[in-house]
Amino acid sequence: MLWFPGPASATGEDVAEFHVHGSRAVLAAMTQALRRLGLRLAEAGEFTRRAFVNGKLDLIQAEAIADLAAAETEAQRRQALRQLDGELGDLYRGWSQRLTRILAHLEAAIDFPDEDLPPEIEDRVLGETEVLITEIERHLADGHRGERLRDGIVVAIIGSPNVGKSSLLNKISRREAAITSPIAGTTRDIVEVAVDLQGYPVVLADTAGLRDSDDIVEQEGLRRALRRAEEAEIRLFVFDAQCPEEARAAAAWPGPDTILVANKIDLLRSPEAAGKAVMPGPDPGIHGDAPLCKGVDGRDKSGHDEGGTQGMVFPISALTGEGIDALLSALGERVAQTYRIEAPVLTRARHRQALEEAVSSLRRALGAALPELRAEDLRLALRSLGRITGTVDVEDLLDMIFRDFCIGK
Ligand code: GDP
Repeated sequence: MLWFPGPASATGEDVAEFHVHGSRAVLAAMTQALRRLGLRLAEAGEFTRRAFVNGKLDLIQAEAIADLAAAETEAQRRQALRQLDGELGDLYRGWSQRLTRILAHLEAAIDFPDEDLPPEIEDRVLGETEVLITEIERHLADGHRGERLRDGIVVAIIGSPNVGKSSLLNKISRREAAITSPIAGTTRDIVEVAVDLQGYPVVLADTAGLRDSDDIVEQEGLRRALRRAEEAEIRLFVFDAQCPEEARAAAAWPGPDTILVANKIDLLRSPEAAGKAVMPGPDPGIHGDAPLCKGVDGRDKSGHDEGGTQGMVFPISALTGEGIDALLSALGERVAQTYRIEAPVLTRARHRQALEEAVSSLRRALGAALPELRAEDLRLALRSLGRITGTVDVEDLLDMIFRDFCIGK
């Protein structure tokens, strides 16, 4: 048995740890004996909760413990550890402290007008509030990277029906160690698989084929597929390598986040296709005289380079697996580029909401007509910030008033 006397223990309370053999019978006898002493099993998260209540952790660190326990990939584990280290909490507490100081100056000006206070206080309050707004907004404008790293980076597989989207998804999920956790919101129209791609959590979403349809059910599927594709961080636009003209439709998804994938290259090598279309090398673009497909509008096939897809075409065969490694490593690199996180980032919608509230209170404070109203808005902003770390402390404010101004010496 190990004894950890409080307050130096992890929870801040006295803790006894029993190390026993793990067999069911031993555990059952042990729990029963402890129950007879009036003890009970801990509730979910109870140890962390007690540590928070006893001031051993802030709320952000408590959340980091939950994230660490749920982490399925290396990048998620690293993010949770950094948060547990207190990096994120330090950032938010730093803002709280500065805001507390701004508020202290303003309150002193309001409450003690006869004291010898610098006349430029008003300007300073406004100036520092503006700087704070800029910093918080910059932090908010991170493209949701931290939240996405927590929840999984969505890669939507899009393209016409029958181009091999499902086959590609199957091939990738069988090859990578698929994460098994269920994904909320999975519908019949959209099959999602979570995979660990070079340490990053990626959710691959196979959307229903993109095509016009009169069928109501198909239309609904199409609508969902489009929404999923729009929301996705990265899109794999799959088309049939025999019909490179189809790649033009990718122009509807402009930007560097759409990767073109020419599937079924194995068919190009069949005797009847030989010499008609060529797909050599890792990034060849589309060359050669591909057989014409239905619906080709006769425009030059170089059109697929338009719209910011940057001509990245990955030739693969979802059937034989050829080219999939190159595609996955490019995809992994793209993900790593965006999500390799250096500065502390927002990891939860809860923090985002509180920060947004803080910014809007700060903005209101800037426009307030009276110093008293301004102080009230600053106080609201402070409370929003405090809610993130779980510390809303009036004592801080009083401490600072007296320290900075030596009132009542
Ligand atoms: P989806 O509608 O885009 O999801 O397409 P599927 O994955 O269902 O594939 C449509 C058809 O194409 C199926 O019969 C697949 O076996 C076939 N297919 C998919 N990928 C390949 C490939 O790389 N080569 C060949 N020869 N056939 C493929």
